[in-house]
Amino acid sequence: MSTESERRLSALYTAMLAVAIDCIVMIDETGKVLEFNPAAERTFGYRREEVLGKPMVDFIVPPDLRDAHRAGLAHYLETGEARVLNKRIEIRGCRSNGDVFPVELTILRVEQPGPTIFAAYLRDLTEQKRLESVQQLLLGASDILAASLDYEETLRNLSHVVVPAFADWYAVDMVDARGALRRLEVSHRDPEKVSAAVELAERFPEEPNQPGGVNHVVRTGEPVLIPDISEALLASAAIEDARLKLLQHLGLRSAMIVPLRAQGRVVGAITLVTAESARRYAERDLDLAQDLAQRAGEAIEKAMLFAEVSESRERLEQQATELQYQAAELEESAAELQTTVEELRAANEALRTEKAQAEESRQQADEANRAKSDFLASMSHELRTPLNAIMGYSQLLDVGVHGPLEELQHEDLRRIDRSAQHLLGLINDILNFAKIEAGRLEFHLERVAVASVLSRVEELIAPQALAKKLTYRFVNECSNVFVCADEEKLIQIFVNLASNAVRYTKEGGRITIECRATEDRVITEVCDTGVGIPRDKLAAVFEPFVQVDRGYAGQRQGTGLGLAISRDLARGMGGDLTVRSEVGKGSVFSLELKREP
Ligand code: ADP
Repeated sequence: MSTESERRLSALYTAMLAVAIDCIVMIDETGKVLEFNPAAERTFGYRREEVLGKPMVDFIVPPDLRDAHRAGLAHYLETGEARVLNKRIEIRGCRSNGDVFPVELTILRVEQPGPTIFAAYLRDLTEQKRLESVQQLLLGASDILAASLDYEETLRNLSHVVVPAFADWYAVDMVDARGALRRLEVSHRDPEKVSAAVELAERFPEEPNQPGGVNHVVRTGEPVLIPDISEALLASAAIEDARLKLLQHLGLRSAMIVPLRAQGRVVGAITLVTAESARRYAERDLDLAQDLAQRAGEAIEKAMLFAEVSESRERLEQQATELQYQAAELEESAAELQTTVEELRAANEALRTEKAQAEESRQQADEANRAKSDFLASMSHELRTPLNAIMGYSQLLDVGVHGPLEELQHEDLRRIDRSAQHLLGLINDILNFAKIEAGRLEFHLERVAVASVLSRVEELIAPQALAKKLTYRFVNECSNVFVCADEEKLIQIFVNLASNAVRYTKEGGRITIECRATEDRVITEVCDTGVGIPRDKLAAVFEPFVQVDRGYAGQRQGTGLGLAISRDLARGMGGDLTVRSEVGKGSVFSLELKREP
């Protein structure tokens, strides 16, 4: 009864079976295979001819499900009840090589006259399941990686999603600050096995140069995939028997080691190993492991950044605290400073008042001084007039204007004259000093030849020295040397110094006047071999009215003004007068003046 339309239907049917993506398997009511399309051939690994007419259950149903399958079919045929008909269910299938895999199954009863026919549509879910589990793994990992900023904790927690879904063993090693590896985590479902693995790692640390080991991965940054851990491989890596036994005990099957990267460098490695699951890792598992490691690396990087940021924040906070502290201190110092400033201001004020008082006192003293000098000046003047009269009249008497005199009378007149001369000297000294003190003495500074001054001094002093039987020497090396001085006053100084030398030197002593010049100074020294001046009196002799030893000076008493006047005169001409002396040996008075070119 093969009509044209039936032939066409049959061709269509064949074509549909051929192109269907899903597996289509038809069986009769006894379960024998009536149809097995190309997709079914590809999926289950049987050729159509092999299975046609044979019980389907023996081929594509996993052994542990076969009884249930037969029972279900029988129950349906008996009662018409079916739990699986017309539904999509997920079940396991079995390939010709024995592999069991997930399938989606829908069974329809083919509506047609005659004996019952079932059509089963099957779809291999292996890839879908794999993708789902990968997705689940990555999602789980992402959750864990995002959960904490403590990356060590994060890496440990990662074991929860990896074991056992993706690996039976999970280990993490980190590179420490010195570049050595530190095992952070080893996980397995069985704690006993974890202990064994820890023991293994402790007893037999990995050789740093072992190819394919963690050290190697960390050093090279290259991942390692060992699809099959063979006995031979174990033996080659074991080195020692004890280690080999431990390794064998763990029953390792397949392994991957992937580097962990953060901030551009390898910071550690994740090791994934299968054992009892018998799973074999392939390239795409390595891709997944690397994806996992990359996400973990990003989490580590984030954690490191966070640590850095928190550290700098802490540092900043610390600095802020320090700054606050410093600011407080500064404020305190500012307050102290303010107090000091106020105190200083008060002290300044007091000083100003004192200065004003001192100025007032000085003015008063100046006035008193001036009054004294005025008095001295006028007194000396007043004394000189009658003294001149005394001297004049005694000389008149001496030359006999009122008649001749006896020798005794001449003697008395000479005494009168000597005393009068002495008195006149004193008066002149006092007058001079008073003038200097009052600042009324005028200096006629000019270019004076030292040699000529010294020869005039010599003329004046020589008779005195001779009279006292003193040897004297003028070392006049200053011909053609000039000083800036008031000539009369300069002579007065030298006469003063030389007279003192004569006066304070015993008979037979020696007096020397020496002159030497430097580039800009002229120094003249009046030296004697006299009584000398005690060390503690050296400064005092220049004070007015100071006399070291009144007893010694012989008949002619001084006023104690000579040196005071001499030094004032020297200073008035821009020079100075100093002394050095040793008691019993003599004295050297040194006059220093500015040299004139
Ligand atoms: P006086 O008029 O008493 O000599 P001076 O002012 O000239 O006063 O000297 C002050 C004191 O310095 C003198 O009294 C004397 O004791 C001491 N004196 C001055 N020149 C000499 C000297 N060449 N040798 C020792 N003592 C001296």
